[in-house]
Amino acid sequence: MRGLLDIIPDPTRVVFDGIEDKYLTDGLGRLRGQASALVFPLSTQEVSGVMRWAYDRRVPVTPRGAGTNLVESTVPHGGIVLDLSRMNRVLELDESTFTVTVEPGILLQDLQAYVEARGLFYPPDPGEKASSIGGNIATNAGGMRAVKYGVTRDYVRGLEVVLADGEVLALGGKCVKDASGLSLKNLIVGSEGTLAVITKCILKLVPRPETSLSAVVCCKSLSDGIRGVAAVLRGDLGPTAVEFIDRKVVGLGERYAGVRFPRPDAGSYILLTFDGGASSVRSRLEKARRLTLDGGALDFVILDDPAAAADVWKARGALVKAVEATSEQEPVDIVVPISRITDFMAFVSGLEQRSGVQMVSFGHAGDGNIHLCVVRGTRTQEEWEQVHRTVMPRIYAKAYELGGLASGEHGIGLSKRDWFLCHTPEGNLRAMSRIKDALDERRILNDGKSYVIGGGRYAETV
Ligand SMILES: Cc1cc2nc3c(=O)[nH]c(=O)nc-3n(C[C@H](O)[C@H](O)[C@H](O)COP(=O)(O)OP(=O)(O)OC[C@H]3O[C@@H](n4cnc5c(N)ncnc54)[C@H](O)[C@@H]3O)c2cc1C
Repeated sequence: MRGLLDIIPDPTRVVFDGIEDKYLTDGLGRLRGQASALVFPLSTQEVSGVMRWAYDRRVPVTPRGAGTNLVESTVPHGGIVLDLSRMNRVLELDESTFTVTVEPGILLQDLQAYVEARGLFYPPDPGEKASSIGGNIATNAGGMRAVKYGVTRDYVRGLEVVLADGEVLALGGKCVKDASGLSLKNLIVGSEGTLAVITKCILKLVPRPETSLSAVVCCKSLSDGIRGVAAVLRGDLGPTAVEFIDRKVVGLGERYAGVRFPRPDAGSYILLTFDGGASSVRSRLEKARRLTLDGGALDFVILDDPAAAADVWKARGALVKAVEATSEQEPVDIVVPISRITDFMAFVSGLEQRSGVQMVSFGHAGDGNIHLCVVRGTRTQEEWEQVHRTVMPRIYAKAYELGGLASGEHGIGLSKRDWFLCHTPEGNLRAMSRIKDALDERRILNDGKSYVIGGGRYAETV
């Protein structure tokens, strides 16, 4: 391992002893791996040098951005943790092509602030603003604005990547269209660090919307709320965010964030946001009010007061942390066709009653991505493992039965691997494995994570 110092001759950026725990885990910290070296490169050349060194010696490499993933995809199995967080510069803002070129370690919140200060907008908006752009691309991160703007993939115009053997590739660029050969760029997006290390990102921007305004639709039940969502989507109103939350879940967020939702008699809530020109936003909100009230909603509260709007979104944003403040939880991020959200939620409600396991659910009603926290409560380790063996398989089986998938935005990593592997056709998995072998024949990059079958061929002593 000491040979790494020949590539990066700076002992503050190549750590062998006393690697801090946070570099050996993910955003949840439930599983801790081990590594022989933690490396902080500052350039593509250094990344390439480290990869070539590791490839020659078959040393596993775990790329890492900000480490906020929830699926154990940054838990190393020995070898090198390659931390890209110090490659965090804005390299170029090109307003004539609506693109910004950044290094992968820049945090989402810093990129958003940088472009918004210049009248531009980077729409992907996953909940964790302290995640890195490289991590967002590697997980194809989603977020609440996906219903209008799409997900991270839709904003990646070009990438520079380093392959497992150290070769540097430039993929895509500033062109809007690309029908030129296989889209290697799109293979890398969402590949969870298994195919290449992202070292430069050319991102698409849009003009910053003039304003944005939110409303809370208070409904008797979740199915009423989802019917209202369908009406809003059919009404061609272009909402930016459409979130659903059950009343019993709202209580958790309210208590944690110290705020109140309107109409405590409601059984569920739909949070809507519209952005764009001020008059268009107002008229689309009014249409949404008519459509949802005509459809049976109890109330439609426009959050004109920015403080009230901030409170409601604060409570929504605090849901996972509110659950975690009381208990360990298993996060589920399944996605189903939007027409099947109510079927899935009815199933979850029945399963919760039958199993006695608390399930806190909320999600992106506009795109069918449902977040479920399966709560451990006071269960012993043995009882909790029993829940994993009996309850979790039923949740995933139901999602697939409804035409859904194991993950809408968090990725597969290690923690969702079993469910993903058992519900994905073998032919698909074989094809994915062949792509892995084509780009990383020695399987040193994040092997054994996500789709990679037969992983774990590690050689750790160098
Ligand atoms: C409170 C909270 C809320 C969240 N909300 C959302 C949400 O709304 N939507 C959503 O999609 N996710 C959400 N997440 C999950 C997480 O923030 C995202 O998965 C995010 O994209 C991870 O970025 P990161 O920089 O932390 O990546 P990491 O956690 O460091 O890494 C994630 C994966 O990307 C790979 N990787 C990282 N950088 C690179 C690189 N430069 N080259 C190649 N591979 C790389 C890693 O190997 C790993 O497989 C949330 C997490 C938390 C804690």
